[in-house]
Formats: sequence, structure tokens, C-alpha cells
Amino acid sequence: MRGLRIRVRGIVQGVGFRPFVYGLAERHGLTGWVRNTSAQVEIELDGEPGALDAFLQELRDDAPPLARIDAVEVEERPPSGFGSFEIVESAHEEGWQAIPPDTATCEACHAETLDPNERRYRYPFTNCTHCGPRFTIIEDLPYDRRRTTMRRFEMCADCRAEYEDPRDRRFHAQPVACPACGPHAWLHGPTDDGTGGDPLARCAALLRDGRIVALKGLGGYQLACDATNDDAVSTLRSRKRRYGKPFALMVPDEGWAERLCRPTDAERNALLSRERPIVLMKRRDAAEIAPEVAPGLDTLGLMLPYTPLHHLLLREFEGPLVMTSGNLSEEPIAIGNDEAVERLGEIADAFLLHNRDIYARYDDSVVRQLAGVVTPIRRARGFAPAPVELPFETARDVLAVGAQQKNTFCLVKGSKALLGQHIGDLENLETLEHFQDALATYERLFRVRPEIIAHDMHPDYLSTQVAQEYPDPGAVRVAVQHHHAHVVSVMAEHGIRDPVIGVAYDGTGYGTDGTVWGGEVLVADWSRFERVAHLRYAPMLGGEAAIRKPYRMAAGYIWGVCRGATESEFAAFTATLPIGERIILRRQFEAELNTPLTSSCGRLFDVAAALLDVRREAVYEGQAAVELEAVADPRVDEIYPYDILRRGEGWIIDPAATLRALWCEHRAGRPLSTTAAAFHNTVASFTAAVCERIRERHDLERVALSGGCFQNALLTARLVETLEATGFEVLTHRAVPPNDGGLSLGQAVAAYAIATSS
Ligand code: ZN
Ligand code: ZN
Ligand code: FE
Repeated sequence: MRGLRIRVRGIVQGVGFRPFVYGLAERHGLTGWVRNTSAQVEIELDGEPGALDAFLQELRDDAPPLARIDAVEVEERPPSGFGSFEIVESAHEEGWQAIPPDTATCEACHAETLDPNERRYRYPFTNCTHCGPRFTIIEDLPYDRRRTTMRRFEMCADCRAEYEDPRDRRFHAQPVACPACGPHAWLHGPTDDGTGGDPLARCAALLRDGRIVALKGLGGYQLACDATNDDAVSTLRSRKRRYGKPFALMVPDEGWAERLCRPTDAERNALLSRERPIVLMKRRDAAEIAPEVAPGLDTLGLMLPYTPLHHLLLREFEGPLVMTSGNLSEEPIAIGNDEAVERLGEIADAFLLHNRDIYARYDDSVVRQLAGVVTPIRRARGFAPAPVELPFETARDVLAVGAQQKNTFCLVKGSKALLGQHIGDLENLETLEHFQDALATYERLFRVRPEIIAHDMHPDYLSTQVAQEYPDPGAVRVAVQHHHAHVVSVMAEHGIRDPVIGVAYDGTGYGTDGTVWGGEVLVADWSRFERVAHLRYAPMLGGEAAIRKPYRMAAGYIWGVCRGATESEFAAFTATLPIGERIILRRQFEAELNTPLTSSCGRLFDVAAALLDVRREAVYEGQAAVELEAVADPRVDEIYPYDILRRGEGWIIDPAATLRALWCEHRAGRPLSTTAAAFHNTVASFTAAVCERIRERHDLERVALSGGCFQNALLTARLVETLEATGFEVLTHRAVPPNDGGLSLGQAVAAYAIATSS
């Protein structure tokens, strides 16, 4: 006989780890105990050496689906003479407790809801240890029913028996419930049809009838309508005041996804993953979907049902539903029943409500395959707050408040970066309140007391003000340049500290010289950066307004960048500018009035889209670039000319020749599929050429890509290909979004490095 003491760290609580250990010990004839502490799971065992070895092997190999084992420590000790194996009372200390995020309904639970002999037949709140709500209902840790919004539901005898049986799939499943004791759903609508029938069946009938229904999902309300019904989709757009921007769809099953799109293997896996994100995929030409769902795009965002409520509804409806956040454009997603009925009353014809409260808002997550890797574009439900593991351990907690757009915050504790869920654009009071609520929740749940507070350099970002007003005057404030933070975010994900060539291409970021940066090539490590190359500055005529009007940006480029002899070649374009505006714009340009300079790569994409007449005015940020990518044919390998000019110690990328060639070709009648693709190829080509020059001079082999422009799959694939073909090692995002949604991770790591190096 031998004795062992074992400590397991990782995501090992709230995932059925103790019953798993219990079963394993029983099977191998071992005695002893297992318990949770706030930081880990502890096990003591007596048994035969061979049985102990087998136990240790299976502990790692067969762990429950939601567990993530980071470390197993094993210590020999003399046998204690235990008589049996037991699960003993948890020892709670203050500290860390890792719980998995909200997880899609598992196969076993799904099957139960479809079986008329089961007591949970058609029950929309079925869940178990392997699936169901988590952070959307947790008010505090340690994770326990009393500290969730399930508190008000007293378990019935049947549920309690499952909850207390270590051999049951629902052993200590905190949100366990059934029709007899748990939450229930009902339909609330202006027209009660008096059938008193099943709320899900009635909801599906309303949807088939072309109505808009607000339904209470996992992390907030969603607005649903029939995705094949033009009128329904257009009505939803106008009532929600959301124009142009594509809607995501929920489809009943994988077969439906194949009918509408052409998923790659990686995309199919993402679709079926337990995070159940919205997956952006190439649509089939024949896909029968209302054109208003995703106008001008060659992709659709699809997701599969992820709660029993969704499964049952989609099963009744038998077709694709638009499934979008329950909010007015730009506001946070609604979570409370009264709040939803009030805020969404003008949008929805009916409400599918239930009485399990949502404690924290989590939007649906969005992923896209970029250069072979399925990458989050919006990181929320299913992903947050799963920590990103960092290659260092800090004794001082860090808070990074993120950017203005697509805001997320990031907290660093020990070696873990907890990136909060997608908050949205910090442009209104509601979103700012959402930010503050979410931050307060995280600080409480994870016992974080930030001593280092990182923010953007932009003085007008609301997040910068939040950092300055943070109620701890003793905390160190560190301003991190926007594009430096982008580059560090991708470095941190890969655990790379050594200097890299950082390519940060996005729409807007505050530069150290007060101009608007966005086409930046840096040499950077965590604490320092040098701007070694950037896109040539162009005037933004009318400032911010140029973002919504790509034709203004094009005029700015023609007058400011493609100067002199070539300008007359663009006369046919400038002639298309609205006549009154053209005179004003020209005057603004000459007097340099309200015309900030920008090196933005996002704006360069806008210019190409305007010149090609793909999109002259945009209703949402990035629309021009997204539509330009949609028309480009990836089989085209043509590249337009460009110039790389030496300036001091660095380089300026001058795309004047590119735009001139693009315009000539367009005028000559070359198809958009060719010109748009050649433009993408050119951006990849000049970027790789700049990296090559930096490699020669700085002896760096590693390139890190970040920034919103790398949500563009064609650009990313082209650039990665080109760089790898010439021997570069390329780092791209995997765990956090390349856009500003991933910025807070870079801010946190850069601020930590800056604060600890001085
Ligand atoms: Zn389950
Ligand atoms: Zn029950
Ligand atoms: Fe950015």
C-alpha cells in the first residue's frame, strides 16, 4: 500500500470534477477523499501502486468535458488507513476560483428534452454539470446556488436526489431544475389568441406569421424573425434602427448550416463547439434568405441553438431565424423582463419571457476563420471570462480599460488575464453603465484590486476618463499607445516578449504626434515601441465625417496624396462629388480646416471602395472594407505598383501609384472582382516589403499582426502567405479579437511591463 496527496489546478470546479474523481477511485479500489478548496481540488488516496498509477493517468486523460487541467501536483505520503472514498466538505479560502463560461446544452440534456418519457420533456431550462448557464447567473463566488439567480427556486425531491448523488450527471449542478420546481417560460403579447397553448409553439406560429419576437436568451434578450421573410427582416431593421449591418441567423441544425453556407472543417467545428458562437462563413449563392439579412456580403453569420429554449423553438419553427441582440442600435442588450418590455416594446410584436433572472449581460460571440485559425471577432458568451494564460506572474493586479469602440476591459491577476465580455461602443450612458456594472462584478468575483491601471492615450475616450476617475488615487496610471497595445495583445497571446515587427492596421488610433494613426509598422516589445514605417498621411476632409463618407476620404487622397500631374486623371471621380460639398471640401483642403491627417489603413480601404464605386457612403464603420472584400476574387494574383520612401530612420508607404492604377483599371472596365482583389494583394505586398526592409536593418524574423483590418480574411491570408514564403514567423490572434475588442489585453500587459521596468 502507498499513499498520495494530489492537488489539481485549472478549471476544476463546477464541472463535475469531484464525482469524476469519486468514480475513478471506486473503479480502482482506492480509499480516501476529495474536496474543493477555493483555489484547487485536493485528493488523498490509499491504494496499490499499480492502481494509483492508473488513477493518475486517467485523471488527466478522461477529465470531464468542461474541465481544463493546468497542473497536477503529486506528493507521496504514508497510507492513512482510510476505510472508504468520500467527497468531503469544501474548504473555502479567499482567492481564485476558475469556473467555465456559459456552455451550450449537452447531448444528454438535449436528448432528455425530446423524450416524452423523461420528466424534463420539452423543458426549456434543462441543464447539468456539463452544460448550461454560468456567468450569466453568478452574483458572487464561490460558485454555489445561493449566489446565483437560481436561489429563488427551491429544488424538488427528485432534483435534490440528482444533485446529491455523486453518480448522477447533475451532482452539484447549481442551476439544476425541472418543470416541477424550476423556472418557466410564457408568451407575452398584445394579442392573446386565447389558445393558452405551449408558449414555444405559439412563438413559432407568430414567427411563421412574419412577426418579430423578443426572446429571453442566456445573456440577454434577442430579437427574432423569419430570415426568409423580406418584410419581416425589413421591419426589424427599421424598428431597431439598424441599417446595412448584417444580421446573424440561428438555424435548427448542422444540415441547415450546410444548406445556407459552405463551412470549412474548422468552421464546422466552431459551429458545433460548446461555445456556440456566431460563425461567419461563405454563403451559398442559392441560399434562400431574405436579401436584407446581409446586404452586399458574400458571408452569413450562423449559429446553432445553445439552450433548450432555442432548440425547442427552432424545432417548432423548422427554418432559419434572424437572431440579433435585443436592443436599439448602439445600446446594450436588455436583460430584465420589465426592462425588455419597455425598451423593446416598439420593436417586438410579442415577448417570450421566463423567470430565471439574467445577472450579467453577455452578447452572442462572433468568430471568423482567418488564415486558417478560427478567431474571435466579438468575444462574449461562451468565451468570457475564460482566462488567457500569461507567461509571467504579477504580484500587482492590473486593470486595462480598453478602447472606445468594441470595448472590453481586462483584469490581470497572477498569471491570468481575464478579458471581460464585449461591452460595445462607449458612446452613451447606457453602455458606460454596462461597462461599470461588468467591471464591478469581475472585481468582486475574482477578488481583484487593481494597482496598475492602463488606458489609451486618447484624451477623449470615455474609457480614459474612467481610468482617471477610478476611485483609487494610489493606483499607477499608465497610458499605452493604441497600436502598441494592439501589437502587445497578439504577442501576449503567444507568450512572446522579445522584440517583433508589429503590423497594426486599423481604422483609428491616437498617435503620439496627435495625428490619427492606423497604418503602422512598429518594432516593439512589451514596454517600448518605435514607429519604423507607416502609411503616408492623407487629409480627412471634415474630420470624423469622412469615416461615414468614403468619397470624402477619396477626395482627400486625390488632392493630398495623388497630387500634381496625376490629379487630372481623377477628374471623372471628383466630378461625381455632390456639387456644393465639392467646393466646401476643396476649401477645407486648401485652408487645412477641420482636416486632421491620418495614416489609417482602414481609410485606405474606404478610398478603394469609393473609387471602385462599391461603397461611397457607409452606414456602419468598416462597411466599405467589408463589401470590398466580398467582391474580391481570391484567385486573382495581380499586384498594383506602390512606393516605399525612405524617411530618416524609417519608411513611408506611398499608395499613390496603387490608387492611380486601381482607378485606371476600373475606368478601363476591368471587373470589380479583379480590381478589388488586386488592391488587397497590393496592401499585403507593400506590408511584406516593409517587413523585409526592417528585417535587414533590425534583424527581426517575427511579425505580429493586429488591428481591425485583420478581420479581413483575404488580406490576412495574403499577408501571412507572403511573409511565411520569405521565412518570417507570423503571429496572429487566436484567443482575442484583432479589432479593438482585444486591445485591453495588450494595454494590460504593456502597462505591467512599463510599470515594472521603471
Ligand atoms: Zn447537460
Ligand atoms: Zn425539480
Ligand atoms: Fe484599433
